[in-house]
Amino acid sequence: MMTTKKVEIVVSPKPAHFVGDGFRVHNFIPGVSRLDMKRMDPFIMLDYNSKFHFNGSEKPRGVGVHPHRGFETVTIAYQGKVEHHDSSGGGGVIGEGDVQWMTAARGVLHKEYHEREWSKTGGIFQMVQLWVNLPAKDKMSKPKYQAIKNSDMKLVDLGENGVIEVIAGEYNGNKGPAFTFTPVHMMNAKLKTGGKATFQFPANYNTAALVIEGNVTVNGNEKAATDQLILFENAGEEFIIEASENAIVLIISGEPINEPIFPHGPFVMNTREEIMQAFEDFNTGKFGYLED
Ligand code: MN
Repeated sequence: MMTTKKVEIVVSPKPAHFVGDGFRVHNFIPGVSRLDMKRMDPFIMLDYNSKFHFNGSEKPRGVGVHPHRGFETVTIAYQGKVEHHDSSGGGGVIGEGDVQWMTAARGVLHKEYHEREWSKTGGIFQMVQLWVNLPAKDKMSKPKYQAIKNSDMKLVDLGENGVIEVIAGEYNGNKGPAFTFTPVHMMNAKLKTGGKATFQFPANYNTAALVIEGNVTVNGNEKAATDQLILFENAGEEFIIEASENAIVLIISGEPINEPIFPHGPFVMNTREEIMQAFEDFNTGKFGYLED
């Protein structure tokens, strides 16, 4: 018998800050309210570029070459276009509705920019970047890159309620295309006015929902508006989201890895020694080479 997964807290975005000159983000994980890396494990970072207008620029805005080790970066584009290149040869352009899933694992250098042509005209930009942690046994595995076009996602038609776009994991048995190292569910609920959808995840999974567009009511009583994040309790399995107006909600739910988390800047390992090693490997060129 399923019990209700209640809302623990609805979190409003902190003031935005710039990452490089191309991403104006509200950071939700780690650091807002009780959302530290452990609380949402395996989701150890969530930056949200809420709708923001960038003027046209001949030189694409973004973040220059930087390293990562020990986790995956997942970028979900809602508006605008992003280009990515990494030292393992991964790269590509994602546009509205697409996702790039980069497994940094033992280490890559990468750069993230507005796509060149999009940058020239500029426009409204809206994007989410998540960092998904890797278990110790996979942290030093081979880097990998998954380009997930919107058309690759599993579309679950809920009739007059709307649709669910499954990126990873599953919705009612409908599996998304992303390969994940640990159990992770990630999906966009695109609900029409008055539309609703029910979600079921194991009680212990860390679960949250980010309202990308519109206004919603959760479990019939908790309200959340655009740009707010809904954190669910680690009890109960089932919740229902109803859209008061056309809404897009990003749902994330994952099994906690439950290993020590030792972060430092762009590296997330299990111990201090492994972080020291990451710096040494980075400084001695073991992350490869990427042109600026
Ligand atoms: Mn990065």
